[in-house]
Amino acid sequence: MRRTPWWSSGVRFSCQPDCGACCDQPGGVVFLSRHDIHRLAKRHGLSDDDFVARDCTTSQNGRLVLKSREEDGVCIYLDGGKRCGVYADRPQQCAAFPWWSENLVNRRTWSKVKATCPGIDASEAFLIDGSTILRHVNADLEAGQGVRLPLSPYVER
Ligand code: SF4
Repeated sequence: MRRTPWWSSGVRFSCQPDCGACCDQPGGVVFLSRHDIHRLAKRHGLSDDDFVARDCTTSQNGRLVLKSREEDGVCIYLDGGKRCGVYADRPQQCAAFPWWSENLVNRRTWSKVKATCPGIDASEAFLIDGSTILRHVNADLEAGQGVRLPLSPYVER
């Protein structure tokens, strides 16, 4: 019998303005879903292929990932004020943080994430319900499967 996840009754969280701690990570890797690529390309007025050529690189096993800045290894979209330059269209994995499956394995893994993310259990935090958390977990897992070149045709959803 499958056990109910510890987070199924909800977890308190509110992302903190001007924090950016989860993005300001040298060596961070952001895998992209096919939808992420199309959305970000559209935002920049590029074709999907031109966006990939400009802003993406490949991981060791060929999955497309966002480029990082050469000087410090941080995401190319994070500005000097630690704000995301594509926030409304940010990749699924970014939008899903901190609800990544590896973070939610148990309360111990969650407490490690909590030590780095001031939004978890913040005083004004909202209760995020279990179905919302599950939606984020699945979005992160989908993006983590990755997209490889050549790009498949984009299918609207
Ligand atoms: S570390 Fe937490 S509070 Fe800070 S920007 Fe990331 S999700 Fe928001």
